[in-house]
Amino acid sequence: MTCHRTITAVCRTVLLSAALLTASSPAAQAAAKPDKPAPSGAGYASAVVQSGPAKRKTAERMQKPAESEQSERKGQEASFATVDVLIDVGHGGIDGGTSYGGLLEKHLNLAVGLRLYEHLCALGVRAALNRTHDYAPSDDNTWLGSRSRHHRDLAQRKLLIDALQPKLTISLHTNWANHTSIRGPGILYQANPPSFIAARLLADRLNRLYGTSSIPYVGKTLYLLNHPKPPVVIVEMGFISNPADRAMLTEANGQQQITEAIASAVIDYLLVYHIPRTENQ
Ligand SMILES: [Zn+2]
Repeated sequence: MTCHRTITAVCRTVLLSAALLTASSPAAQAAAKPDKPAPSGAGYASAVVQSGPAKRKTAERMQKPAESEQSERKGQEASFATVDVLIDVGHGGIDGGTSYGGLLEKHLNLAVGLRLYEHLCALGVRAALNRTHDYAPSDDNTWLGSRSRHHRDLAQRKLLIDALQPKLTISLHTNWANHTSIRGPGILYQANPPSFIAARLLADRLNRLYGTSSIPYVGKTLYLLNHPKPPVVIVEMGFISNPADRAMLTEANGQQQITEAIASAVIDYLLVYHIPRTENQ
């Protein structure tokens, strides 16, 4: 599949570089903010590896003379136009999301998000992550002027979507229900064709994996689905409250199966919305 040959290592670099694009905007403040320390745990090892070089590159870039920044920024603008998929990792830091006992949604979202990033890059998809460690995006948002941490969090996520304009943004989350028998994926989409197609593909692959028949639905009242112009889907990967789903979400093999199911849908989505490009682009 020629369209996905070029592997782009973006990760934290993209987040920081995106902010540099609008250096006069409040987002530049987020760019200058160093990474938060990574928590211990097997799920975070790859994030540390990937964010290391990214941090160094960013530090080098920010030390360069002003006259070289303009030409470099032009190059960055070209590369941003080629981001295929932005992985929005739900919650983080003080915001743990839903939970089961001591198990927090934010860690499950991050574990699958990191796997998905690695997997998509290996397939040649230009992917980006908006959170590589356990921190709250709202911490980076000093520009909104809102006292609501929740609003600052969502606005910060939207800022990156607007800056990168990816062909698709997948927001990863984990569900919870009162009844422990409720299980399976939940896909929310925007009322536009690309988001709908992505949601149907994601639901198909995840339903096959779980043996469920969940039907995607329009998420009318959700901020991320209402505001960004590029297509966005929210993927509730399973129920933390259901034993079978919880096993899938916490065990490495299950996380990998979820990852591959989502990636399979992404590949098909990109085939539908693929814009041809040369190897030099
Ligand atoms: Zn969530």
